Amino acid sequence: MMTGKEYIESLRKYRPKIYFMGRRIESVADDPITAPHVNAAAMTYELAHDPRYEDVMTAVSHLTGERINRFNHIHQSTEDLVKKVRMIRVLGQKTGSCFQRCVGCDAMNAIYITSYNIDRKYGTEYHERVRQYIKYVQKNDLMPAGAMTDVKGDRSKRPSQQADKDLYVRIVEKREDGIVVRGAKAHITGAVNSHEIIVMPTRALEADDKDYAVSFAVPVDAEGVKMIFGRQTNDLRRLDGDMDCGNAKYATVGGEALVIFDDVFVPWERVFMCGEYDFAGELVEVFATFHRQNYGACKVGVADVLIGATANVAEMQGIARASHVVDKITEMIHLAETCWCCTLACSYEGFRTPSGAYMPNQLLANVTKLNITRFPYEWSRIAQDITGGIVITLPSEKDYRNPETRDLIEKYLKGVAETPTEQRMRMIRLVENLSIGAELPESMHGAGSPQAQKIMIARRSNLEMKKEMARIIAGIKEDEHFRKIRGVTEREFFSKLK
Ligand code: SF4
Ligand code: FE
Repeated sequence: MMTGKEYIESLRKYRPKIYFMGRRIESVADDPITAPHVNAAAMTYELAHDPRYEDVMTAVSHLTGERINRFNHIHQSTEDLVKKVRMIRVLGQKTGSCFQRCVGCDAMNAIYITSYNIDRKYGTEYHERVRQYIKYVQKNDLMPAGAMTDVKGDRSKRPSQQADKDLYVRIVEKREDGIVVRGAKAHITGAVNSHEIIVMPTRALEADDKDYAVSFAVPVDAEGVKMIFGRQTNDLRRLDGDMDCGNAKYATVGGEALVIFDDVFVPWERVFMCGEYDFAGELVEVFATFHRQNYGACKVGVADVLIGATANVAEMQGIARASHVVDKITEMIHLAETCWCCTLACSYEGFRTPSGAYMPNQLLANVTKLNITRFPYEWSRIAQDITGGIVITLPSEKDYRNPETRDLIEKYLKGVAETPTEQRMRMIRLVENLSIGAELPESMHGAGSPQAQKIMIARRSNLEMKKEMARIIAGIKEDEHFRKIRGVTEREFFSKLK
């Protein structure tokens, strides 16, 4: 297992093509814009060597028997699923940010499960390729990014109906030694500071979309891969010293990039789905379940930091004992722990798939994520409420360092007499970073937008069974009501639908 330092060093050996604000980023580990994201991901390596966290941060590979970083593990039990979310919450607490590595973990688990099912139906050999690939990742302790979301063009049209056929990643050529792919994936977390990229389809597909049913892995610097790093709220503050950033060491969110596959060659041993369009929907669902499971852990870990920051600000401003402040901070804790309950529940209710790997309960994982599209807005609202208007009007670090204005800021921005002004300023900046920055839209759209979770919840919640329960309790005979409105029995009606 690599240490944090070794991971950072390992990135210097790759030469990915990354663009940001009209220039090329030569070294993600050293560029001030990307370095904080690298530091956050490095924590996933570093903590694996801390004996206090060994049980959650590491696992024994079922493929090699070696001890590995849990991010590269294929879950072998519900206990593994629980340990995964415990690991993720701790990392949220240690970084106050997205540490990015979960996406690759979820991608590996999803392709492991789905490739097994594809092989069972078609007699293909994807699952063995996936196993070999995962062994390679485990052996070298690599960080693969997971790339699912296509750029999508006209959302009312399927991939093959688009005016421009490249708006979903597709196979443009099949060769004896592999395939050539073209297209682009959007919002790819951690892509610029990963070693590998695992690509999966983004939606259920039909026969016409066969060429879009493709899953594969390539190194980040494979020929034809180009990345355009996205802007984030206040990103250029990173060039102005550390105070104004709020969380200078680890940034805020994952550092997302538009990843372009400009006719990229992929050898067969790295192709995990090639035309099996009837499994695209399953792969998306399995991946989404894993990633939605996480959100009640990472966002709650970050919420722990925000709750702590808000409570510190309250103390620094002399309002910590006001009953409404105590009540509001308790409300923040309640909201965060509610999400944590959801995460634990979907993990404990996980199940064994035919491949042998375990996955979380799908209904509960979607409930977890749907809460995360809402509750962080509420706990951030409370943090801003308690902190006060200064959360958006605080002077800059440069004014604080300027001898002409420093004493004035020292004097007039002091809270309680015992707290140095600089400490109050730093804490307010942290609240700003965690409650106003990109964290909120990330909670909304990361792992799928709210409507995607609603669709899954509707699909998985067995409403017919609930209606039946109500009819029994209400003393209505099964067919009486249904036959009246539909002309057939309920059983006949639904068997026809199937
Ligand atoms: Fe992991 Fe959360 Fe970041 Fe997704 S948003 S990669 S689950 S830390
Ligand atoms: Fe995310």
